[in-house]
Amino acid sequence: MKVDFLIAGAGFAGCTLAERIATQFDKKVLLVETRNHIGGNTYDYYNEDGLLIQKYGPHIFHTNLKDVWDYLCRFTEWNGYIHRVIAVVRGKEVYLPINLDTMERLYDRKFTSEELEEYFEQHRVKLDKIRNSRDVVVSQVGEELYDLFFKNYTKKQWGIYPDELDPEVTKRLPVRFNRDTRYFTDAYQGIPKHGFTRMFERMIDNKNIHLLLKTDYREIIDSVEYNKLIYTGPIDYYFDYMFGKLPYRSLDFKFETLDMEKYQNAGVVNYPNDYNYTRITEFKHFYLQQHQKTTICYEYPLAEGDPYYPIPKPECREIYQKYRKEADKLRSVYFIGRLAQYKYLNMDQVVAGALKLFEELI
Ligand SMILES: Cc1cc2nc3c(=O)[nH]c(=O)nc-3n(C[C@H](O)[C@H](O)[C@H](O)COP(=O)(O)OP(=O)(O)OC[C@H]3O[C@@H](n4cnc5c(N)ncnc54)[C@H](O)[C@@H]3O)c2cc1C
Repeated sequence: MKVDFLIAGAGFAGCTLAERIATQFDKKVLLVETRNHIGGNTYDYYNEDGLLIQKYGPHIFHTNLKDVWDYLCRFTEWNGYIHRVIAVVRGKEVYLPINLDTMERLYDRKFTSEELEEYFEQHRVKLDKIRNSRDVVVSQVGEELYDLFFKNYTKKQWGIYPDELDPEVTKRLPVRFNRDTRYFTDAYQGIPKHGFTRMFERMIDNKNIHLLLKTDYREIIDSVEYNKLIYTGPIDYYFDYMFGKLPYRSLDFKFETLDMEKYQNAGVVNYPNDYNYTRITEFKHFYLQQHQKTTICYEYPLAEGDPYYPIPKPECREIYQKYRKEADKLRSVYFIGRLAQYKYLNMDQVVAGALKLFEELI
């Protein structure tokens, strides 16, 4: 087989580049995907009860990048879903990020914006230097809120407490002094009206794109003639783990379909302090689907398993840099996406990166 581009991986990165190359260059693309479906980690499908669910955890599209939004709007309409996250603490349901509403419910008292600012000023721990994730949080909201919302959630999520994690994991802690209960404040957000998978199907529906599922690119690479390779899989796998395996935090998802119309009051409910799972997702909220049943998903963080979150530690980044150096030596091979860049990237960042790479290929 002869193609212009061989693309490994049919997630956001792979499908965006396949679409651009096929339609703008009129070039032949072979898109190879290990799994039995396209869409990468945002894959959604109708389960046996006819409920639309996401296989790899809750995914909500949000961006401030108008060009990325406009690009995706060519392949889908959006359902207008606004994401809200509830946390259950001290037996109460409160919205995240922490805002006036959260604080009033938690402390059974009223707050004005000024009073909340004053509250944090009184409670925050004054530190000379921010050394880790715990410092980021306590320096802004104090010990008590750190204990209630962050300490144990982080332990579940990462297997270690925030004082052992890079400050960048929590970055700038979003605390709001208003009553905005939206989880994301980006200008554009939602879920594709007919699901992510349908959007991807439309992106790659082109005579120039040939899709091969259930195939590792290595199985076919020697039997395909191609000019350029775009690789969106794990960078350490590409180089046969020559510098060791890049560590990831993994997840296990347990699905349950219940004989009730609605299970919880938001698409995602976090349990920072109770149970072994971090959160429960109820997909109906995302898809605005009417159905007499509902499917929920419990999310259990794991030390081993499929790669989900790169470990944010300097020693891991050092290993990645070694692979990056090798990657930079290669001509006509391009590494893009969350696995190839060993970086947590939101969907819009991946699309933006893919569109940028496409410009460079021209
Ligand atoms: C639990 C969770 C929730 C998230 N929620 C959000 C959210 O709400 N909003 C948001 O913007 N982002 C979210 N993200 C991030 C989002 O998942 C990523 O931005 C996006 O999936 C990255 O797309 P990608 O193409 O880089 O990678 P992927 O989606 O992982 O696609 C890569 C594809 O390459 C395939 N592949 C790997 N190796 C090979 C090989 N050797 N040969 C062939 N194919 C191969 C894989 O099977 C995969 O399908 C979340 C991430 C996680 C872990």
